[in-house]
Amino acid sequence: MKNLKPIVAKRPFTVYFDVTTGITDQMDRMVTRRLSDYQGMFLDDNALEEMLKKEDKVVCNFTELGLEEVEENLLFGTSIVYPGKVGKEYFMTKGHFHAKINLGEVYYCLSGDGMLVMETPDGDTEIVRLKPGVSVFVPGRWAHRSVNIGNAPLVTFYVFRADAGHDYETIKVKGFRKLVIENNGEPAVIDNPKWKGLSK
Ligand code: MN
Repeated sequence: MKNLKPIVAKRPFTVYFDVTTGITDQMDRMVTRRLSDYQGMFLDDNALEEMLKKEDKVVCNFTELGLEEVEENLLFGTSIVYPGKVGKEYFMTKGHFHAKINLGEVYYCLSGDGMLVMETPDGDTEIVRLKPGVSVFVPGRWAHRSVNIGNAPLVTFYVFRADAGHDYETIKVKGFRKLVIENNGEPAVIDNPKWKGLSK
């Protein structure tokens, strides 16, 4: 992770985001995730290994503005998931719970075609379609992952309370209960055969 100083915002400020590409004028505060960051997280480990022999592709970028992580602040930015697949499984964000699990988030799709995959620790699941103009309220306790099912970048804008924090580890270890794969040229939601139903 880049080691930029937190922004201490005492006055209003603006950030530019391109609505088609999600690209911002704060590119030094964009985090890049590549295929090699997803070891064990896609269904088809062999497909991932074969792809990595050729190229460590960028899977997604997201803004990490670095505002102070205090409850008075809101963190916001764009998430960009590039088109692609590992085996039959579409490129996606890693997905996470919030460290303060009761804090929610809002997503607003700017461009592309995708799914937001969500689940609670108790096993409730919800998957919604992301298209430009669709906003999603993700309540507290719902882990969330965006999946790009189209041929162009999937760009979403998000806002959450700045002290929410991120728990990526639970999803890394357990996975999501549901996966989005391509089946006969169409996106399909399946139960995750690798899901590890351990208690959280
Ligand atoms: Mn989040």
